[in-house]
This record gives sequence, C-alpha cells and structure tokens, in this order.
Amino acid sequence: MIPFNVPPYCGREDAYVLEAIHSHKISGDGAFTKKCHAWLEEHTGAARALLTTSGTHALDMAALLCRLEPGDEVIMPSYTFSSTANAFVLAGAVPVFVDIRPDTMNIDETLIEPAITPRTRVVCVVHYAGVGCEMDTVMDIARRRGLKVVEDAAQGVMASYKGTALGAIGDYGCFSFHESKNYSMGEGGALLLRQEDPRAEVIREKGTNRARFLRGQVDKYTWEDLGSSYLPSELNAAYLYGQLEMAEEINAARLHAWELYRQALAPLADRGYIDLPHIPDGCAHNAHMFYIKARDLNERTALIAYLKANGVGSVFHYVPLHSAAAGLRFGRFHGEDRYTTRESERLLRLPMYYGITDSDVLYAAETVAAFYREGRK
Ligand SMILES: *Cc1c(COP(=O)(O)O)cnc(C)c1O
Repeated sequence: MIPFNVPPYCGREDAYVLEAIHSHKISGDGAFTKKCHAWLEEHTGAARALLTTSGTHALDMAALLCRLEPGDEVIMPSYTFSSTANAFVLAGAVPVFVDIRPDTMNIDETLIEPAITPRTRVVCVVHYAGVGCEMDTVMDIARRRGLKVVEDAAQGVMASYKGTALGAIGDYGCFSFHESKNYSMGEGGALLLRQEDPRAEVIREKGTNRARFLRGQVDKYTWEDLGSSYLPSELNAAYLYGQLEMAEEINAARLHAWELYRQALAPLADRGYIDLPHIPDGCAHNAHMFYIKARDLNERTALIAYLKANGVGSVFHYVPLHSAAAGLRFGRFHGEDRYTTRESERLLRLPMYYGITDSDVLYAAETVAAFYREGRK
C-alpha cells in the first residue's frame, strides 16, 4: 500500500530532542524555540514569529489580536478546515462565507467586497494547497475598507506570492506544523506578525507579561490581558528545527514529486477526464498536496475505491463549512455557492509526502489512468 501521508523525518530530529531533554529546559521558549523563531522571521520577512501549540491556536491568537466585538463579521471561504472559522466564532464573530475560484480552490477575491457590511472587520484567506490567494486585490480591499487580513497559511510554509512568503502579507499569518503538513513538530504551528504587537506574546503566555519578565524588562509578571497557553514544549520545537534546517531539500523533493504527477497525469487532463491544479503567475507553491478533480462525486467515490483496491491511499476533505452543522449555526453564506460544494465533491488528494519515491508516484498516476481506461472508454 502506498500511504497517503508519511510524517516528515529528516534524521537529526532525534539528536535535537535529546539535546533539549539534556538541557533541562523542556517547557516552551528555550533554545530550540528561539532557533525556530529566527528561522521563520528570516525566511518569511515577518517582523515577529511565535511558535504555537497548533495551527488552530495560531488562528485563535490571530482572532484575539483582531479585537473583535460580538456580532462583528469575518469574510472567509467555506472550503476550508473548521479551525479557520472556529477561531473567529470563539472570539464572538460571525463567519461570512463566500465562494471559491474553481482553478485554485482559493477565495474568489472578486466576491469579498460585495460581502462587506458595516460589521465587517476581517478578511481571512486560506492559501489552499500552498498556492497563494490573489493577495494584491485582497490587500487593496482591506486598505480601502479598513479591514484586517488574516492568512490561514497552514499549508503554505515555504510558498510565496509575488516574492513575499505566504503568511507575511496580511496582518497575521498562521502556519501549521501538524504531522500532515510539509514541516512538522507532531502538533504545532506558528503565528506571524507583519508588525510587532506586544499583545501577541501576552496572549500566548496566559495573558501575562511573563515574556517581558524573562527578558528582565519588568521585575514581576502579572495578568494583563486575555490569553491562554499557546506556547509549545521545547521537545516539539527541537523536532521542528531538525526539519526547518532541511526545508530547501524537503521543498525541492516535494516539488519534484508534484511535477512528476503533473506530467504523468497531463494526458488524462488533455483528454478531459480529470482536471489538474492551476498555479497562477506569481505564485511559488510548495507542493503541499497533489490533487485531481474527477467528474463528480460518484466518479470520485469509485476512483477512491479503485485506488484502494490497487494499493494507493487517497483522501478527500472539507465538507464545506457553510453546510456543516456548526456552519449553519454560527455563520452564513453570502452570494451564490457556484463552486464550493461542486468542486469540493470532485477533488481527490493523491499520496504526497517527503520521501515518496518516483516509482510510487508513477504507480499512483498509472492507477488513476487505468481507472479511466477500464471504466470510461
Ligand atoms: C492543517 C490546517 C489547519 C489546522 O492546523 P493544526 O495545526 O492541525 O491545528 C488550519 N487550516 C488549514 C487550512 C489547515 O490545512
């Protein structure tokens, strides 16, 4: 069986985790966390990067930093993970979902402005598959209309839009280092700040000024603001550092596998059986996933079963949030759902991970081709 995902592992993680253990500093914000922060700031250009306990918690922190009031509205796509919307609902806001573009599965930037009301405070974009949203348009709308921009760049580490790292374009960017992402620490994430904001480290440290205390800037630490415990252990940071050090190599290997898939599946796409991902000009993606689109839900269901029977793991995801139980309760959809539901039912993710072999990629692609040869002559 070719698994759908294998968590990344480069080889130096063990030694770094041991080093953290023997340093007798295993709670958060030790030497490895600082190294990860420095790496993230250097590679994204963000003014500040803070490791978090998950991508979800990075989003929660971003929502708290937006200073939302009950009933404030946040425009976002419906085709995303629950955490994107949950963060803002926890902060008292209402998610207003708009449709996606079928070519990238990202928010349709032309639908943002029509969804703005006097209560709109934030636009939260999701860079699906590590392919950037149309950020020039998003940032222009936000500037003109006085909105904050949060980037759910959970899938976007090492990807960029017109030369700027995803996550470092809007006010706040959120990375995930879950085991299913390109770089991992088991469970973890990071918040990127385009501009320094002293509230961020307070929110991350249970609402206290402990970070300033540890730097010797105050002589005791106290409760100052809202917050929770969003800083990860050094053990997780040590594992992550072993991967960030290898980021160029991991990225290149993933892009190689992605390109191999694209070439192998191009003939099927040319004949109109499937659709392949589109990478707009100006977007440098990170091969977070390789997906194809079948004709419809029935065909996708049959294809998943065929791939499984032939030893290839494949998955779909994201029941659109606006049609899920919590989405119906907490949010609303603005405009027409032309693509969100239809395209989400067609999309299928093929095996993609650091270390996948060329022959496994070619076998997975060939199995897709065989399905269409046998079933749809
Ligand atoms: C993975 C992911 C998250 C959540 O990240 P965790 O680290 O698992 O909490 C949020 N949004 C998107 C788009 C994701 O892919």
